[in-house]
Amino acid sequence: MNDIQPIALPGIDPRRPLVIAGPCSAETEEQVIETARALAAEGVRIYRAGLWKPRTKPGGFEGVGAAGIPWLQRVKRETGMYTATEVATREHVDMALRGGVDLLWIGARTAANPFAMQEIADALRGRDVPVLVKNPVSPDLELWIGAIERIHNAGIRRLGAIHRGFTSIDRSLYRNHPMWAIPIELHRRLPKLEIFCDPSHIGGRRELIAPLSQQAMDLGFDGLVVEAHCSPDCAWSDKAQQVTPEALAYIIRNLVIREQSVTTESLTELRAQIDKIDDELLELLARRMRVSRDIGQFKKEHNMPVLQAQRYEELLERRAGQAVRLGMEREFMRTVMQAIHEESVRQQMEVLGQQPAPEHQ
Ligand code: PEP
Ligand code: MN
Repeated sequence: MNDIQPIALPGIDPRRPLVIAGPCSAETEEQVIETARALAAEGVRIYRAGLWKPRTKPGGFEGVGAAGIPWLQRVKRETGMYTATEVATREHVDMALRGGVDLLWIGARTAANPFAMQEIADALRGRDVPVLVKNPVSPDLELWIGAIERIHNAGIRRLGAIHRGFTSIDRSLYRNHPMWAIPIELHRRLPKLEIFCDPSHIGGRRELIAPLSQQAMDLGFDGLVVEAHCSPDCAWSDKAQQVTPEALAYIIRNLVIREQSVTTESLTELRAQIDKIDDELLELLARRMRVSRDIGQFKKEHNMPVLQAQRYEELLERRAGQAVRLGMEREFMRTVMQAIHEESVRQQMEVLGQQPAPEHQ
């Protein structure tokens, strides 16, 4: 996929971040137009609005469907903004393109389904429209790349990705866990693919939009997709995570954009050193685990329990203190030692032929 091109809609400022903003859902013509005018006044050039809404459970607001297409046409006419909407079926693609929508995105639930992705790809064959593929709901990079590949195979070259976070069983601050390592690895695998961050769906709360957007910029993302609504608290979907156009403009103005520095030779050299040290770290950890397994064998032969709580606490404290003397955070070292210990216990359990206790899984 070496021939992927940027989204590059004519007349759009190429500087980061490229902002796509608009309501989660198109609700009424008034809401669509009012939000669009306010966003255009703030300098936003690409307007998003969901017409067909994939809902986790039936009974929620499932979108106005094709009835909203003339509203988007009016946005384009009256504000000059480009328009974008989500497509999930062949019919959506046909209706959106016939209606002059400028950019299509594929939602997280759809991206997780290869049959749906193939149907969309087939509908896109021979068309020339920029397409953004959201990450699938599960943290599966291959599935995400596969979805992008299907669209690429259909001949679409202006292709991008949207990172919107992943469903996680851990309760956390976020609605969808960001797992930044996944979009970073996507960038490594497909360096030409523009990556957008959707801080609204990651955070699930409007207060998280600013810090998540900053984080995305610091990690070198190309753009942002943010949900903005003229009266967020009255939104028919995702109201907790939408902001007013004015709040969005404030957030964007306050982002610090650090231009990616050119990789100098000395930086390459320093990175090579880091890689080498990481290799050594891994070797050392593997050696430590081999010793753990020997200890497991010893405990098995002498009928001893795997966990010896007092020794564990002593070890944690000793290493935390040592870390502070070496210029590292105490908490950082406790976390590292806990993680190493957890794997050690798991390996010993394996030797003993037992399942680890739940707190050590
Ligand atoms: C959306 O963009 O409103 C949406 C439904 O997002 P996702 O597919 O990321 O859940
Ligand atoms: Mn939404």
